[in-house]
Amino acid sequence: MRAGGGGVLGKLGKSSILVTDIANQFWCERQMEYNYLYGKKYTKYMAQGKQLHQELQQEVYVPLTIEPVTYGDFLYKTAYENYRSMRSLKEKGLCRELRVYGSLNGYRLSGQIDELKVVNDRTVVVERKTTDVDRKFTEAYTRPHIVQVMLYRKMLGDIREKKYTEENFAKIYEVGKTTLSDVFKRELNAMGLQGEMLDTGAMYRKMFGEMYTMPTLDDRLEVVYVDRFSGKQISSIQVEYKEDEMGERISNVMKYWNGERESAPVVEAEKWKCNFCKFFGKECKAWWGQRDLSAAGK
Ligand code: SF4
Repeated sequence: MRAGGGGVLGKLGKSSILVTDIANQFWCERQMEYNYLYGKKYTKYMAQGKQLHQELQQEVYVPLTIEPVTYGDFLYKTAYENYRSMRSLKEKGLCRELRVYGSLNGYRLSGQIDELKVVNDRTVVVERKTTDVDRKFTEAYTRPHIVQVMLYRKMLGDIREKKYTEENFAKIYEVGKTTLSDVFKRELNAMGLQGEMLDTGAMYRKMFGEMYTMPTLDDRLEVVYVDRFSGKQISSIQVEYKEDEMGERISNVMKYWNGERESAPVVEAEKWKCNFCKFFGKECKAWWGQRDLSAAGK
């Protein structure tokens, strides 16, 4: 498993690839890279999106409000919340904000799935996006979201088929070497958690156990668009999961992470995106000086 150290990950100060990194490559790969190199701004739109996600999560269960102090606490909290989410999927047919881990061509991959729901005894992956009411849902706009939901489907499939197991996870994230901080453990005790329920390794076994046995994964995936202000649904698209198509898309993406090629700016037909990019004319001059950045196809 490649992680940290050198290469492109090292250059970007990362130890693993996020699903959203890959999705963002399908908007503009150079922008994704420059966000790491030159600083990501925490925009008000991102803050609104985060709040909405938290509210949706609380509809299903109350997440642990205890703040992790150490890496071991963080690992435990993730396992506990995922375990509760997976139980909720089986009991209520719905779970939200599930962290998911996997491997892609030897790299660590992680992400957070917005929603899983059970429809006709099958698990459907749903990605929610906040957007504006007047948004046009063009191919260029929806492409990153489709890739994102497909990757989640692939990662869940890998876990369900045991291509990626609790053993893989425990080894890569060194679960066995971690301990809980005293303050975190005291708070868990106060919640009534005792014995095996306080063991991080055991909690991951429970979490993976639930994931191995989740209802069959549907190849029908959903991307739901909600108004960033009201949270109401504006539109949704259905996506058919195709493993071959996913593989083709990913192989070009991996050339970037392997350092076989530089990050690519947007193609000429999509240079209108530069109008909305904070790096345009500053760090990135790929299309700078071009007069016609028409919004055709936006
Ligand atoms: S200016 Fe255009 S090509 Fe450059 S990073 Fe931004 S969107 Fe990509």
